[in-house]
Amino acid sequence: MHLREEDINMSAPNRCIWCRGEPSNTTFNVSHVLPECVGNENVVLPKGIVCMQCNSHFGRRVEPALLRDPLFHVMAVFQRLTDPEDMNEFRDSVFDAEHQPVEGVERNLSCDIKVSPMNMSLNIQYAIKGQLSKSYSRRELKLLSRAVHKIAFEALAWTIFVKGLYEDIDVFDDRFDTIRKWSREGQPQNSVRPVIRHQAFHEVKPKWACYLWRFGDSLAIELNLFGDWYAVSLTSPSDKAGDDLKRWVGSKRPEDPVWSVGEKLLSLNQTES
Ligand SMILES: [Zn+2]
Repeated sequence: MHLREEDINMSAPNRCIWCRGEPSNTTFNVSHVLPECVGNENVVLPKGIVCMQCNSHFGRRVEPALLRDPLFHVMAVFQRLTDPEDMNEFRDSVFDAEHQPVEGVERNLSCDIKVSPMNMSLNIQYAIKGQLSKSYSRRELKLLSRAVHKIAFEALAWTIFVKGLYEDIDVFDDRFDTIRKWSREGQPQNSVRPVIRHQAFHEVKPKWACYLWRFGDSLAIELNLFGDWYAVSLTSPSDKAGDDLKRWVGSKRPEDPVWSVGEKLLSLNQTES
């Protein structure tokens, strides 16, 4: 294949961090670490880091599992996340066709009216109340875990290649092969690689963030997706990831619900009712 100049980015590795494809056999495009539709304009991997095939696989097959997940959805609606390209809100209703309330929806309106000779002003409080419930298939748990691992590993790549931090970390190191195989291929098929999820409504900010967390020689990432938090191990073998991540809970001691998403959903700080 003829190598075109525009396919080479001098500051990027020119090798796909997922499939390790190189420009001689792969086409590259930019990759949004978090999808653009939820307002991600800036956290973008330039050409030469993720190939087109990997990028489109994640966009079509993997990331939708996170985008339709009820907690992420509610946070996104509440914060009115807006696609910077077309300025459309990602979603505008808590209860929609894909997120139907278990029973009816209750709406409450209170309106404090003040009238002066030529003016009327209304102080409004509008509340909506209802329940969303989601039963997960094993397939959905896998896709959700893979989506979160994808964002975490690309967030690490962004921190290294775009922000210029953590130069000691080589994303092509074999220790990331487990996460490459899991996110990109869903391998090993017979398990669900766990992540820890934590809802922190009081920490909601109209942005998302990621933090690298080192424990021993291992690396994990904390992702705050608009108040929907995840802890993701980047290097643990699949059968150790759950236990490694529980250390994160131990160090945080969150008061809000925290649970692991793996073969099952398992509450880590609440007694089962
Ligand atoms: Zn690739």
